[in-house]
Amino acid sequence: MNQVDTAFSKELAKYGASDFAACYNCGNCTAVCDLTEKQANFPRMFIRYGVLGLKKDILKSREVWLCYACGECTKACPRQAGPAPYMAAIRRYAIASYEPTGLTKLLFKSNPFAILFTVALAVLLGFFLFTLKPDHDVSRWIFNWMPFDVIHDLGMIIFGLTGLALVIGVINMMRHLYSGNEKPVFEWKKVPGAFRYVLDEMALLKRYRNCDDDEEDYWAGKPEWQHPWFIHWSIMWGFIGLLVATTLDFLFKDPSLAIWWPSRILGTLAGLLMMYGTSMAMWYRIKKVTKAYEETQFSDWMFLVFLWIAGFTGFWLEVAVAISGHSVLNQVIFVIHTIISMELVILFAFSRFAHAIYRPVALFSYYFVKS
Ligand code: SF4
Ligand code: SF4
Repeated sequence: MNQVDTAFSKELAKYGASDFAACYNCGNCTAVCDLTEKQANFPRMFIRYGVLGLKKDILKSREVWLCYACGECTKACPRQAGPAPYMAAIRRYAIASYEPTGLTKLLFKSNPFAILFTVALAVLLGFFLFTLKPDHDVSRWIFNWMPFDVIHDLGMIIFGLTGLALVIGVINMMRHLYSGNEKPVFEWKKVPGAFRYVLDEMALLKRYRNCDDDEEDYWAGKPEWQHPWFIHWSIMWGFIGLLVATTLDFLFKDPSLAIWWPSRILGTLAGLLMMYGTSMAMWYRIKKVTKAYEETQFSDWMFLVFLWIAGFTGFWLEVAVAISGHSVLNQVIFVIHTIISMELVILFAFSRFAHAIYRPVALFSYYFVKS
């Protein structure tokens, strides 16, 4: 049975939900939300859960992942209770609670810790990088005081732990989703439909596109490529394209050659998409163009800045390779690019990035509830 815990509000404030206690339960937010459905009554109901401290009800919910933080509900709230940032905060809380090591909690809740951790990880990854080039002068200097094997094995363990944390996180999420009395009935015949639903959602962001179709909306009349759904789509597919291109480069060729190689062309297009998405997302946040962009957590900024730096340094190296520009500056850019890219992969399980895994899992399960 769920225990009422009034101290939970303080906990949620650390994840970015500050004013939700002002809510007087009018329901305007739910009424204006284009994404609520008969079975998915948010954000009002989830604000009640937060006020009463019903943590388990938040963690076992699929509906938390149906919201795309468009900010419409915040605009409609007469009490400035911030339902949109509240929904984003409980998603952060859920990610941190599913992840088994506790690292995500620290990264989300403490900005100084997040900075210290990413710097320390960057230094370690820098050392790890040199284990891949053991004959380099700097490598020899490093290995004088720390053995090659220790650094290399430590690096491999870190990558392994990231994958493991994500797998355990998904298992924890499933345990919560299927706890309680409202378990959806699994039916094999619905599985193709569930996959199609998730694919539509993830590949085309079908529901997210409904978020900004309001005639009164700031986005009304603006081209689709400026809309938040397209910015989200660009970042997601840009990053996936870059991961695929890097893997193909690694498997099939020396990445320092042939700019017209198909994987390199894919990398360039994906990089452009990601740079576009991250630049626009940062610009909208700086300008605070709508309610949805008014409150940005430090961890969200860090995520965007890392992606942007990875994209920018990637293009720098592309040009350096094309003009055969060998210089110390280009070597430094290469090290920065590789460290930031490795940090993004390692922090996948411990950051906002993890929603790319949790959301499809929740949507797949939700399909059985709604259909
Ligand atoms: S609109 Fe504001 S006050 Fe009304 S239920 Fe939603 S959060 Fe609460
Ligand atoms: S942020 Fe948008 S999608 Fe999320 S609850 Fe509010 S109106 Fe609905």
